[in-house]
Amino acid sequence: MNASALDLLQSVFGYPSFRGQQQAVVEHMSEGGDALVLMPTGGGKSLCYQIPALLRQGTGIVVSPLIALMHDQVDALREAGVAAAYLNSSLGADDQREVERRLSAGELNLLYVAPERLLTGRFLNLLEHTEVALFAIDEAHCVSQWGHDFRPEYRELAILHQRFPQVPRIALTATADPRTREEIVERLALQQARQFVASFDRPNIGYRVGLRHNAKRQLGEFLLGHRGESGIVYCLSRRKVDDTAQWLAESGLEALPYHAGLDAATRTKNQKRFLREDGVVMVATVAFGMGIDKPDVRFVAHLDLPRSIEGYYQETGRAGRDGLPAEAWMIYGLSDVVTMSQMIAQSESADERKRVERQKLESLLAYAEATGCRRELLLGAFGESYPGPCGHCDNCIEPPKTWDATVPAQKALSGVYRSGQRFGSGHVIDILRGEETERVRSLGHHQLSTFGVGAELDEKQWRSVFRQLLAAGLLEADAEGYGTLRLTAASRAVLSGGQTVKLREDARPARASRRRRDSQTIVGGGSLGIEAYEQPLWDALRALRTQLARQHGVPPYVVFHDATLLAMLRALPANEDELATISGVGEAKLKRYGRDFLAVINAQG
Ligand code: ADP
Ligand code: ZN
Repeated sequence: MNASALDLLQSVFGYPSFRGQQQAVVEHMSEGGDALVLMPTGGGKSLCYQIPALLRQGTGIVVSPLIALMHDQVDALREAGVAAAYLNSSLGADDQREVERRLSAGELNLLYVAPERLLTGRFLNLLEHTEVALFAIDEAHCVSQWGHDFRPEYRELAILHQRFPQVPRIALTATADPRTREEIVERLALQQARQFVASFDRPNIGYRVGLRHNAKRQLGEFLLGHRGESGIVYCLSRRKVDDTAQWLAESGLEALPYHAGLDAATRTKNQKRFLREDGVVMVATVAFGMGIDKPDVRFVAHLDLPRSIEGYYQETGRAGRDGLPAEAWMIYGLSDVVTMSQMIAQSESADERKRVERQKLESLLAYAEATGCRRELLLGAFGESYPGPCGHCDNCIEPPKTWDATVPAQKALSGVYRSGQRFGSGHVIDILRGEETERVRSLGHHQLSTFGVGAELDEKQWRSVFRQLLAAGLLEADAEGYGTLRLTAASRAVLSGGQTVKLREDARPARASRRRRDSQTIVGGGSLGIEAYEQPLWDALRALRTQLARQHGVPPYVVFHDATLLAMLRALPANEDELATISGVGEAKLKRYGRDFLAVINAQG
């Protein structure tokens, strides 16, 4: 059985070996066991059910929540020579009947269905008369009402266990948190299922976080290192999305906007271009991304703080699914904290929920201000202990300088306290710096004992102190979202001199940009490290891929992934036998595309 699983991996998918826990899952499923698979995005979940479905008698039924996702998966399987189809609302009546006929006739290896379709009496009856190899429930976290991808129909999927107790089931998700995991087990009746939990580390993603001083200039410099690459730029507001997309487009980039305020046709068009063309930058609110399976997203940039560390992980996780180098880059400012607090305060949620959301924001802020390894912190937030430092985040590459800020912290905290814990940082900084503004005078704050005690730091340095005190939980913003600050339980130890405070020095913009330019010359042609002499062949390979993709009506990455093109570029295969050894070149694709790619390589190589 192992040998044949490996055979299929090599001949159909063109990969030399299984990754991580794939083989264990495949063996378990092939023997008829139930499984719950938790793997990060890009971990290789699909093969965990696709190969068992090919090994077992009958058709593998895959429940998938998103139409776009289904289409991509089915396209990719067909390219690899697998008999796959989908059933969802995008099909006309005739096509639907044809798929059902093929299912009944046992002609399909894999059938993707929307949950609402699967649950119809008609479809369940059809399944009674069909040989089912297995049920795969993809994006299983959709059963959880706590996540933002909640799909009520997912909760009814336990019916599969009741009606088809002998058919093995596998549920898969990239959501790491333990509460969601428990909910999946319970809601889908997977108590007997074996759990396969992979590390949630995404080793190919580098993390970088910085302060925002001039968003456009900073983004522009960042994008210089990613020319011609696909990426996502996240902004908090629709206006900022439009503004940023327009500015990037005027700067000559293929940048498109995406947010809920655009009409459906524009959204679909922009999403399609992002998927089907090389090197499109999508500027978007968080409305964009769920179900985006594009493997070659080389960077995810955040111009504002996301809502939570989970959100940050999920959004940055859309980069580098193909395992090639990718970058998660974020800039933020103190104003983000105020805006986010306001959004939480003004939302319709219950108080309990708001409290949870504030905590989430705080842990993200702590991540942003961290001086240690970011990967360690990020994974720690999901209960995974990572033996850092990773060597692949900004803090590891260049450890931030810290300074003893105990005395300024004490001044800041007492400044907040003496003025009655009713003001934002701006006003308190005025008091500390001894600025006799109108507001200070009218409130009589020039008579406070803390007035003018902080002249040793300029306004910018004080803002940095306040921001970091917030991040460290030594100050908190009011729950109502007015941006006013008050002390926390932890403040006392600092005020009483029992605790020292170490803060990071904020990098100076000039230095930061010089460093960026240096690293760029090292990286050469963007994330993938294409050398100048390789560029012509690389461009030719990508152009051929785009042309073939158009002919076949599929996205370029369905023809071959970047990783496969890169392997061709480096190995320069001279004939079909050599081409066949390249990871990602299976038998069907070799036959279909081999000659064309060899011709390009031989012409230039
Ligand atoms: P997930 O669904 O977990 O996000 P996918 O199943 O889409 O991940 O796989 C992520 C990428 O890794 C895909 O491009 C896939 O082709 C590739 N991949 C999966 N398994 C292997 C393997 N054993 N060897 C090489 N590449 C693999
Ligand atoms: Zn690190």
